[in-house]
Amino acid sequence: MIRLYDTKQHKKVDFVPLHEGEVRMYVCGPTVYNRIHIGNARTFISFDMIRRYLEWRGFKVTFVQNVTDVDDKIINRAAEEGRSAAEVATEYTEAFIADMHAAGVADPTIRPKATEEIPAMIELVQALVDKEHAYVVDGDVYFSVRSDPHYGTLSGRNIDEMESGHRELRADGQGLEDRKRDPLDFALWKAAKPGEPAWDSPWGKGRPGWHIECSAMSHKYLGLPFDIHGGGQDLVFPHHENERAQSECGCGTAFANHWMHSGMLQVNAEKMSKSLGNFLLLHEVLEDARPEALRMLMLQTHYRSPLDFSTERMDEADAALSRIENALSAAGWACANATDGAPDALDGAALRQKAEACQAAFTEAMDDDFNAPAALGTLFTLVTEMNSALADKTLSLVDAESVVCATDAIRALMGVLGIPLAEGQGETEYPLEVTALAADVAGYGGTDAMEAVEALIEARALARSQKDWAKADAVRDGLIGLGFVIEDTPQGAKVTFEG
Ligand code: AMP
Ligand code: ZN
Repeated sequence: MIRLYDTKQHKKVDFVPLHEGEVRMYVCGPTVYNRIHIGNARTFISFDMIRRYLEWRGFKVTFVQNVTDVDDKIINRAAEEGRSAAEVATEYTEAFIADMHAAGVADPTIRPKATEEIPAMIELVQALVDKEHAYVVDGDVYFSVRSDPHYGTLSGRNIDEMESGHRELRADGQGLEDRKRDPLDFALWKAAKPGEPAWDSPWGKGRPGWHIECSAMSHKYLGLPFDIHGGGQDLVFPHHENERAQSECGCGTAFANHWMHSGMLQVNAEKMSKSLGNFLLLHEVLEDARPEALRMLMLQTHYRSPLDFSTERMDEADAALSRIENALSAAGWACANATDGAPDALDGAALRQKAEACQAAFTEAMDDDFNAPAALGTLFTLVTEMNSALADKTLSLVDAESVVCATDAIRALMGVLGIPLAEGQGETEYPLEVTALAADVAGYGGTDAMEAVEALIEARALARSQKDWAKADAVRDGLIGLGFVIEDTPQGAKVTFEG
């Protein structure tokens, strides 16, 4: 049984899907006026991890994520750059999708754009007006917060305490506040100002408020109620509180069955945000870091906890990933060189058991509110166990199957976390100069670094068998000079690249 922390219930609860075998989830998407930063990416990676795990556990997941492509920030940016809001939104929607692909985040099942869903929003606003949960003032439509007896239940806030905060705002002379019946009320529909994108509506030309978008799109694509609504913790109030209020009041049914929120990515204990200027754009970070390493960094902290970002931590995550890759590479080499009747053989049955235990522990960790750091811990334990099982041991063909069982488990479970690992050591990790060395001393004529290393190993073995020590040493010294390490084992020379 999967348990998840539900923000509304303030505790971990059993996850029982509303439709057997299916999960319908909605995660708020970006406002497309800029490239996304790694704080945004953390939230999207967290929910990608959750979705992948639910799928691996056998659920059919329908994952909806909107694109907010009409908003003040987009309109302001367009005005600054002398472009249309649609041009700005298109550019950054495409950039967002490219960034998500680069970070290994799977596409949502449906990615609706706010500007293409205006009729559904108008319909919901009209229902709220009809039920007197909303009122019209000169082409604006406001939600009447006090008409919802449950307002504040998601964020755990008391409506009267909220009001005092808002009164101060009003004293600052914000014009909009004077149009509302109550300072707490928020805009469902905004009357058009000249030059802004606008759509026809029963209240005149205008555009939707931010909160109504997510309500309309989640209703339309998932039906009500749906299983999980997600986003970053900064969206709990007011965005999600408002989404919940207008959806439940407008439709007369429950909205999201569970609310899940991911913790903030921070820099020096401060939230990463565009407004504070302390942000690192995802695509810039990925120029220096491997996406798998960034994901490793993200998943080494529980998705609900704050995560402090630094380049040192990024390097540590990369090193942790390399530890797994090196173990897989060494295991692959041992399997490729397994022989029958090997002396000092590895205990295959014990390793197979450890691989099975790892899978069970991984599942237990992930079932407990998607505890990816604990799940990664179980994989590191198996890596350590496999390394020590292989250390100083030769491998029989039968035992090689147990090692494959362990490496398959590691690869598959890392894949569940969205961190794909290459088979063996990739040729890209070898320096290209090795082809010139192979041409010089082994008569190799190709351009493939991996093949060149193999040609050199064969040439060295041949030279040794012919007692041509000068040539054997030339090959060895050449490889060492390029950063390779050569280890002579009963199963032949093992060459690894240390750089
Ligand atoms: P926005 O475009 O600002 O609406 O943000 C898109 C998503 O990124 C939302 O789910 C936010 O909660 C999330 N987000 C924004 N800043 C951070 C941060 N520093 N850490 C984690 N998530 C964030
Ligand atoms: Zn939303």
